[in-house]
Amino acid sequence: MNSDQMMGNLADILIVDDEPNNLRLLSNLLKQQGYKVRAVLSGEMALSAAKLMQPELILLDIMMPDMDGYHVCHQLKNNSETCQIPVIFVSAKDQGFDKVRAFAVGGVDYITKPFQVEEVIARINCHLKLNYLQIKLEEQNYQLQVEMCQRNAAEKALQQQNEHLRQEIERRQITELALQKANQELARSNADLEQFAAIASHDLRSPLATINGYAQLLQMCGKGQLDDKSNEFVEQIIKLCDRTDLLIGELLSYAHLNQTPEQFQLLQSDRLVQQAQENLATEIYQNKAEVTYDALPTIIGTESQFVQLFQNLIENAIKYRREEPPRIHVSAVLQDHDYLFSIQDNGIGIDEQYSEHIFQIFKRLHAQDYPGTGIGLATCRKIVEQHGGSIWLKSEVGQGSTFYFTVPTAKGVVERQMIAAIGHPN
Ligand code: ADP
Repeated sequence: MNSDQMMGNLADILIVDDEPNNLRLLSNLLKQQGYKVRAVLSGEMALSAAKLMQPELILLDIMMPDMDGYHVCHQLKNNSETCQIPVIFVSAKDQGFDKVRAFAVGGVDYITKPFQVEEVIARINCHLKLNYLQIKLEEQNYQLQVEMCQRNAAEKALQQQNEHLRQEIERRQITELALQKANQELARSNADLEQFAAIASHDLRSPLATINGYAQLLQMCGKGQLDDKSNEFVEQIIKLCDRTDLLIGELLSYAHLNQTPEQFQLLQSDRLVQQAQENLATEIYQNKAEVTYDALPTIIGTESQFVQLFQNLIENAIKYRREEPPRIHVSAVLQDHDYLFSIQDNGIGIDEQYSEHIFQIFKRLHAQDYPGTGIGLATCRKIVEQHGGSIWLKSEVGQGSTFYFTVPTAKGVVERQMIAAIGHPN
């Protein structure tokens, strides 16, 4: 029911009176005003009618034989289905009407016979409106409570999320601290390694050079005087000195890679391959090797390290050769934000199961048959990773190997630096 319906007098009113004449009179009066009217002659009938279909207002006679108006009202108010219906008592002037009791049992008003039509209509309208507003208010209250419950639930969820966030931040801070500590320790151990390498290079290399020098003197001065066995021993000493010097040198350059990287610069990679070729001129000549390369891209990095990278890979490709002359081809293709370089050879090949193993320092597969220190590929990996790339190989024993490594393009380098500075967008 809305207020227009009520104001349009469409309300359903139940009239209860044991006097048929009174009932008819009041009934006609209200019908004339446009109300829908139901009329009953007793309290019992009133209770049933109200339960069957709840009226919007009840006009209830006080004096009735079986059940008086007070009792009817009391029962209406005690029933959850009918307790909301406003009850206006009707009493004759000369009847002993107990107003206080009428209000105590739940009546909202009373009118006295004989009626003054305007007064009856005014009171009915007033209580219909009051009741309508009360129902509206209760509905709004209920709605408000539902909203409050929803808000409380949302607030609780927000608090939980905040708590999760706080814990996450705390976890990240702890991880960051651990990372900082690990970085500091790494920096310290790198510095220690550097220092050790410097001392080792000085303290080992100079006596080694002296031993080598004396051995060579002995070889020269003892010519014709030393027997074959002694000559062989001296030669072994010189060879071992050379090998140990090479090992120290390679260890030293491996340790140097830990230093803060030099300023990155633009590098023409075909120039880097040429430089590596020049450094390996003797090996290339002696092995009748052929080194070819496609058009190669410009990259960003540290020149000396990239020359060393190409040099190590080409040197290995020559060293681990088969009978036929070594054929080495260098090429590069663009893949997303990286250049993918490949160095292909026709050498002895590597069993696939060792393709990770050989990148570890001092790991060698052909130690008996080929000279070497086992530092070359570990150095290559370090160089590639320090430039933000990765290195791997594909090979077949007896067929040759292809070593692959990636280098970020200029765009890739900038992106990685930005991610490192401000974190990943995800
Ligand atoms: P080194 O050459 O001094 O032994 P590296 O670290 O350069 O050390 O290489 C590790 C091992 O990987 C080598 O001992 C060799 O067994 C294997 N290897 C590296 N390059 C090749 C290649 N191009 N063909 C076959 N085997 C290779």
